Amino acid sequence: MMKEIRWMLLFCITASLSVLAQGTGGASVPQGTTVIRAGTLIDGNSDSPRRDQVIVIRGNRIESVSDVSSAKIPVGANVIDLSGATVLPGLIDSHTHIFLQGEDPSQGGYDANILKYPLALRAARATVSVRRALEQGFTTLRDLETEGAGYGDVGIKEAIEGGYIPGPRLFVSTRAISTTGGYPLEGYAPEVEMPKGVQIVDGPVEARKAAREQLDHGADWIKVYMTHRSWVGKKGELVSQPTLTVEELKAIVDETHGWQKKIACHAYSGIGLHRALDGGCDSIEHGLDLDDAAIAQMLKQGTWYCPTINVYYTDWAPAGTPAGQRDRKRASVHEQSFRKALKAGVKIVFGTDMGGIPWTEPIAEEFPRMVELGMSPMDAIKSATSRPAEMLDMTGQIGVVAPGAYADVIAVTGNPLQDIKELGRVGFVMKDGKVFKNEVK
Ligand SMILES: [Zn+2]
Repeated sequence: MMKEIRWMLLFCITASLSVLAQGTGGASVPQGTTVIRAGTLIDGNSDSPRRDQVIVIRGNRIESVSDVSSAKIPVGANVIDLSGATVLPGLIDSHTHIFLQGEDPSQGGYDANILKYPLALRAARATVSVRRALEQGFTTLRDLETEGAGYGDVGIKEAIEGGYIPGPRLFVSTRAISTTGGYPLEGYAPEVEMPKGVQIVDGPVEARKAAREQLDHGADWIKVYMTHRSWVGKKGELVSQPTLTVEELKAIVDETHGWQKKIACHAYSGIGLHRALDGGCDSIEHGLDLDDAAIAQMLKQGTWYCPTINVYYTDWAPAGTPAGQRDRKRASVHEQSFRKALKAGVKIVFGTDMGGIPWTEPIAEEFPRMVELGMSPMDAIKSATSRPAEMLDMTGQIGVVAPGAYADVIAVTGNPLQDIKELGRVGFVMKDGKVFKNEVK
């Protein structure tokens, strides 16, 4: 039944396309040619914006980018006029959780998500998360684990690629890995075996096996938790409980690199952070307290830094409590770490931890945080375009408006180089050459 409907649809589309082609002068117009007139183009690579550009798109790829004076606009092409707007590559958020919804403690919080909600409900909500991301101009996400929803991210990715639901390109990491005592659900009677938000391993053999399983079932990246609980120590420092040993992590890294894939390490500070670097992590997630040795090692090893600043300003516990002190300490050391890393030239990518923040909140809130801490608006834009493209081994394919790249293009009315908050008002979104949203006046 479904098959017949699909063939009917295909027939109708083909028929109407051929009518269109005839109406516009026949074979000289290749099917699916779109031209964007860009008032200003920030292409993701170049340090300087260019005025009055013409972007020719054929199918799902960018064919050419040129000055309007020299541009050859194919006759009969679909022209999108963004001559009053700033055009940029589709944005990349390198740290999200499409299967989390900023769980409200009054509704059972994180635990209810795993204990009470059917997987189908969680998947349905994830389809809303990915749609929200696309609406806001994020055409690629690196999604860093499903929090108990198994390989659901692989399914959502397949649904997007199959055209069943709208959403960004996904780089998924499936279940993630930590150790015994290293992840919720926790705080229940020891007699009860509780499900966990990650795959728990102890020892290098189990660690390698978990990586193999996750890679086998579709993980594009492996996510490892190198620290878990954190608190303020006796000297007022941020202390983090370490999880995997270097030997355990090395087994995961060795296995994953063999598959030509990479490892993202959640690491706050101290022992766990240094084990992450000694074990050969490709990206440090959060990196709240980067000491000088950590920064030097990141530079030497070419480790990426995905700081996720904004999420540490949400939901602080009351000031006088231990949790409240910890929350404030996290934010203050994080600011210093970001400034130091920026100054030292560590490779920084834009990430938000959306899902930890409800998907109803604006994703672009992270941009002004980065700029307030000293990053230039152009570098902030690159941290969400060409830089993560490099991290994802997609240089020239995404995060750039240039010939040969996928046609992932967005636009804002204002100038984000003057006010980075403009990136929170994306009015035009194209992914893979298809217009998803056009509200630019
Ligand atoms: Zn996260």
